[in-house]
Amino acid sequence: MCVFCKIVAGELPAKVVYEDDLIMAFHDINPRKKVHVLVIPKKHIPSLNDLTEEDKEVMGHLVVKIPEIAKKLGIAEDGYRVIVNTGRHGGQEVYHVHFHLLGGEPVGPMTC
Ligand code: 5GP
Ligand code: ZN
Repeated sequence: MCVFCKIVAGELPAKVVYEDDLIMAFHDINPRKKVHVLVIPKKHIPSLNDLTEEDKEVMGHLVVKIPEIAKKLGIAEDGYRVIVNTGRHGGQEVYHVHFHLLGGEPVGPMTC
């Protein structure tokens, strides 16, 4: 089981900020900004490259929930950045789709 599936299963602890039937959001273990939350589908999907038509509901749901989670974290009004690293060139380290939600301070210019 991958590390994020273990968090979903409750086998690894995480600071959960939001959870429902389809998705989960929890604080990154190594935050790069004041607020750094990972939003994931509960279903194990290794990367964006593995998405299929079947995943439309869960991924649409995930994206729609991001602003709600940002509001809950108090970062929506000032804004935030959402990043999805994909594959080797994208710098993906954990192969379970996750959206990085970064904010709570200016995140700076995009460096790429
Ligand atoms: P990636 O580079 O794959 O886009 O990002 C993976 C992220 O997962 C990293 O920011 C890393 O700090 C985070 N991470 C890795 N293992 C764990 C863990 O066990 N718990 C939590 N909360 N975050 C993790
Ligand atoms: Zn997984």
